[in-house]
Amino acid sequence: MIKKKKVRDRAIHRLWMQGTDLQPVAKTPIDNQRVMGDTERQLWYKARIKEASGRCVECNQRINYRDPASAYGSQAHLLPKELFPSVALHPLNNVELGRWCCHGQYDSSWLNASRMKVWPHALDVIVHELVPLLTRKEKSKLPDIILNSLSENP
Ligand SMILES: [Zn+2]
Repeated sequence: MIKKKKVRDRAIHRLWMQGTDLQPVAKTPIDNQRVMGDTERQLWYKARIKEASGRCVECNQRINYRDPASAYGSQAHLLPKELFPSVALHPLNNVELGRWCCHGQYDSSWLNASRMKVWPHALDVIVHELVPLLTRKEKSKLPDIILNSLSENP
């Protein structure tokens, strides 16, 4: 039993080291750009994991930070990184939501996100910290639930 656990821990450690390898390894300039981009994102995740409390802010469930999939997967973006690239790596564009409990609910739709306990906090950070940094094109992608709040807090 103990031996099995050791093997598993070693595998997790190896995965973790791969996931946090900060040395860009590239053969061509294009590869290098891609790897550098990945590295910036990895740094963002690493920094958020360092700040993490270890519990899902929505349901208080403990998050297993020894498991890289769980550690990385529990760093939710308040504004999705694909739609809002200019704030994708902003340190405040984050909330700790368990990968296996509440992260999926936040990401599933704005309506579902707005029904969560964490929403007032999320909306506050989005409106006051993130929206001012968005490009005009990104602002046009904001949902009504955020736009309405903007008109209430000019
Ligand atoms: Zn949760």
